[in-house]
Amino acid sequence: MIQTPEMDRIQHEMQPGVITQDGFLGTDHRSLQEILDHDDATVRRLNLTHKAIAARMCELRDEGEKGLGETISVPPNFDIRVDSVRGKLPCPFLGGTIVQKLNTSLRNTRLGREVTYTDLNIHMIEEHGFYEGYGSLFRMAPEELVEILEVER
Ligand SMILES: [Zn+2]
Repeated sequence: MIQTPEMDRIQHEMQPGVITQDGFLGTDHRSLQEILDHDDATVRRLNLTHKAIAARMCELRDEGEKGLGETISVPPNFDIRVDSVRGKLPCPFLGGTIVQKLNTSLRNTRLGREVTYTDLNIHMIEEHGFYEGYGSLFRMAPEELVEILEVER
């Protein structure tokens, strides 16, 4: 799909130093539309939806929050810690959404693999199908996220 002027504006919001110090695009030089199309194709190929992935992220965050900042074991094989950081962040997609800064660090002990995501990641995946650009600090390839979080298909 060709990138619209609105997408250009959103892509500008994602640059380093606009909303967050590091921005959302990492070292990715593709257009935002290309990034979205590529991850959307991956999720379709996995027979999943962005909403289903985001729902699983929420579910595991909610379980992890019961640890009140300490790591807790969540069945069947997760260690999860949820850290609340002071402050809030606006979504770069210009919808006026503001999200609390909450970091979920999750280790899948069966796979020995870890992932860290924020509430803003959950929102951007759920509403915009955005997983961040290549090389971004919080970039999560959808196929990895699906494996590590054991998203049911
Ligand atoms: Zn948004």
